[in-house]
Amino acid sequence: MSLSDPVKPHRICVCVRKRPLNKKELAKKEIDVVTIPGNGALLLHEPKQKVDLTKYLENQTFHFDYSFDEDATNDLVYRFSAKPLVKTIFEGGMATCFAYGQTGSGKTHTMGGDFSGKSQNSSKGIYALAAQDVFTLLRQKRYADIDLCPYVTFFEIYNGKVFDLLNKKAKLRVLEDEKQQVNVVGLQEVPVSSVDDVIKMMEVGSACRTSGQTFANASSSRSHAVLQVILRRRNFLHGKFSLVDLAGNERGTDVSSNDRHTIVETAEINRSLLALKECIRSLGQNSEHIPFRMSKLTQVLRDSFIGENSRTCMIAMISPGMNSCEYTLNTLRYFINESNL
Ligand code: ADP
Ligand code: MG
Repeated sequence: MSLSDPVKPHRICVCVRKRPLNKKELAKKEIDVVTIPGNGALLLHEPKQKVDLTKYLENQTFHFDYSFDEDATNDLVYRFSAKPLVKTIFEGGMATCFAYGQTGSGKTHTMGGDFSGKSQNSSKGIYALAAQDVFTLLRQKRYADIDLCPYVTFFEIYNGKVFDLLNKKAKLRVLEDEKQQVNVVGLQEVPVSSVDDVIKMMEVGSACRTSGQTFANASSSRSHAVLQVILRRRNFLHGKFSLVDLAGNERGTDVSSNDRHTIVETAEINRSLLALKECIRSLGQNSEHIPFRMSKLTQVLRDSFIGENSRTCMIAMISPGMNSCEYTLNTLRYFINESNL
């Protein structure tokens, strides 16, 4: 069996989004070390110390396809990142959107939105905004005529295992057939007929994701969550949009931890994020060897990457505070190669 996959040129868009300083950071008078001058650029002012112990700021510039500052709304971020991918799934292709960054940087805010308290500030995230566009296109005559049926799946990958968030976290097996087709056995595919249906599934899955976890040991930040909007035509797969809220990328700075569980968990996250980076890099370079099997995450998303008409966008989330500087650099460096594709 060959490990290589035929690859067509692939379109990858990489964006960065800075969130505002939060109340806690403001109370601690944390300095904002990130500036977004526009045009896809991001400036990081990294505090450094000279040998004589005088302090100075080292400015570093990073370039992305788009960069969003703290005033950007979910709507705006969506418009430039995931929205252009919606059409892909109507044309029989695969689309994938990743939210990447340290815990607390805004991944879930961007993907799931903020419905807390149903206040005026509540804003839809990419899940709901993409669903809205899917239903708009479904009503258009040219697509209404070809009889596409929309479904939703929502699952979590934790410690290399897949759990169904729409079926009480049932643990699912992942099987690969001789044609290297990957199948998550028994994954619930729920038919949906409106944006509200999708939002309902999003809420059911999110509640399932965070149930039974304490704040101190929030496994939701240690797992990848994947919400998929699937279009079927006479039961056959037509297109699939995978929206991925990745696990926090803060790496084992916590090497002092001798809790075996934490060490294994961290190693698994690092492995899957590295695998993702390697796969995307290989795709961008039209490489023959794409290391999908390096992690469960990349294995499960395999068909989303290799389709002839596949498109991917990555959104890097940034916490702007000085205390997050090390993590911020880690996030920005992850994308150095991707943004230069
Ligand atoms: P993550 O999923 O990356 O761990 P969250 O999305 O949960 O982070 O964000 C952490 C907190 O910051 C939440 O209270 C969220 O509402 C807030 N937040 C994140 N991004 C923004 C933003 N762009 N504007 C306002 N608040 C934000
Ligand atoms: Mg989160």
